Order: sequence, then structure tokens, then C-alpha cells
Amino acid sequence: MQTRYFDEAHGVVTIDANYIKPGIASIQLLINKNRAVFFDTGTTRSLPYVQEVLKLKGLNQTDVDFVVPTHVHLDHAGGAGAMMRAFPKAKLIIHPRGAAHMVDPTKLWQSTVAVYGEKVAKKLYGEVIPVEEERIIIADDGMELDFHGTTLKFLDTPGHARHHFCVVVVRHRMIFAGDTMGISYRMFDGPNGPFVFPTTSPVQFDPDALHQSIDRLMDTDPRLVFLTHFGKIEPNHNMVTSLHRRIDSFVSIAQAMFRKGQIERHLERSISDYLVDEAKQHGVPLTEREIRSGLRMDAKLNADGIIVWLTRLDKQTAN
Ligand SMILES: [Zn+2]
Repeated sequence: MQTRYFDEAHGVVTIDANYIKPGIASIQLLINKNRAVFFDTGTTRSLPYVQEVLKLKGLNQTDVDFVVPTHVHLDHAGGAGAMMRAFPKAKLIIHPRGAAHMVDPTKLWQSTVAVYGEKVAKKLYGEVIPVEEERIIIADDGMELDFHGTTLKFLDTPGHARHHFCVVVVRHRMIFAGDTMGISYRMFDGPNGPFVFPTTSPVQFDPDALHQSIDRLMDTDPRLVFLTHFGKIEPNHNMVTSLHRRIDSFVSIAQAMFRKGQIERHLERSISDYLVDEAKQHGVPLTEREIRSGLRMDAKLNADGIIVWLTRLDKQTAN
């Protein structure tokens, strides 16, 4: 793939990670005073795109100060080790619950192989390279970091995963949100703006925590939010209300099926039907077939994550 990137605002560049196919996952580059920080990393296979954009922006490999995966799922952090190897001056900033997995990615890799099988996992992610412990900064909730006069504030945002933080650029009222504010593919943009829906992928989805994290981010009154899937959105009241409502709908659809014992077989289809319906109502300018196909991977991941959550909840209540 040719390198695809988009100049956004305030020195932010969205780079296509080319994960699975173009337009699915991104990496954000923030440039300030000729220094660079990356939010999320794509996979090891994304590194050439990142390096090319850096060069196009007139920056060197030694101009990168920080590499910041929002959480340790491999479409966000899989390329961290490769980036750290390429950018010798950089420090890695990570959530306290994610740090050990960056130093030793064995478990991350094993759980990925368990889902996809070795062959597909290698094709998707390449090799996952460990990060040296002494180059890691652990960001506790509320940590503030001075990036050459621009304050970056780290907020713990569980819900999608317990090892997820978001980064607020206080001065510009913008947020690097990873997966906390959901997914919004640019191909779904229509006259009513972006179509945003939650990502509830395995294995730590927690709806209550996700609602709270979204509210916490919105309390900072952001003008711009950068989603890993995919790029810049300008949040507004309707969009955020819909996002909350869609989390609740996922939960109620799943709970009804769970009671009937039909969840394993039917949830993916029901999530897909629900999202296709929502997308059509939102005015997404695509055919039903195109919408369903664009949502296929997420309907599956979301269903899997909701089942893991419900099963855990069921065990807790039984005990
Ligand atoms: Zn993701």
C-alpha cells in the first residue's frame, strides 16, 4: 500500500496503519516544535508508513520523544517494539496494567494466536518485539507531561479494556481516545456526520466502566477527538448520546439472548442487524450490503467481547 496520511489540526497527522486493509486502524502523530510523539502504533508491519510520514514532515528518527499506545491490544501496541527500535531517543508511555506486556509480549502473542491461529496472526501482526524496561514510563491516572510547552494529560479510561488510558491535549481541547470513544469509519460519514458505535472486543469489556470513561472524557469539553478506528471526529451531544445508547442496546440485546440460551449462535447476527439499522437511520450513504460488510469484523469482535463479559457476570452472580 502507498502511505496514506491526513493532516488534521494543531500538528496532528493521522497515518493509516494499513491493518487488515486501508481505513481500519490509524496512528496519530503529534508534532510540536519539530519534536514528535506517536499515539498508538499499528502493528510491526505499519512501521514503514510511520517512517515515511516522519520523513515527509522533515523529521528524523531521533526527533521522536514518545511512543504512546493507548492500550495493549495488538492493533494499538503491536508495533511499539518496532517503533522503539527505530526511534532510539523515544520513551514508551503505557498504562500501569499494560507495562508488563510490553516488556514481555509472550502472553499477548499467545492470546492472539489462540484467536486467529499462528499463520493469520503472523500475517496480521508480523513479529511483536519486546520493549526494554528502562525505556518505559508508566502513566498513572492524572499524570501530566510537558511536551515542549504543550501539556499532555493521561486519564485512566477502563471499559473497552482495563489497560486503556486516553491522552488529553489540554491547550487544544483534543483527545487521543484509542477505542474508548468507539469506532467511526470515514466511509460511513454522511450528511448527518460521522456514525460512531462502541467497540466491546474481548476480554475486558465492562459497560458501566465504559459509560463512565466516555463521560469523563466529555467532561474535558473536547473540540476534537482522534479515534484509532479511524481518525478525527468533532464530538457533539447527539453523537455522544447515541454512543451511550448503543452500548445499552448491545447489553440489552445480549442479555435477552443469554436468558434464552441462544447467545453463542445468534449474537453476532443480532449486533450486525442492530448496527446496520442504526447506520441506515443515521443516513450512512451506502447500500445495506456495503454497510453490513463494513461492519462484519466489528460485529464479530463486539459479540465475542459481550459474551465474555456476560459469562463472567453470570459466574459472579452464581457464586
Ligand atoms: Zn482497536
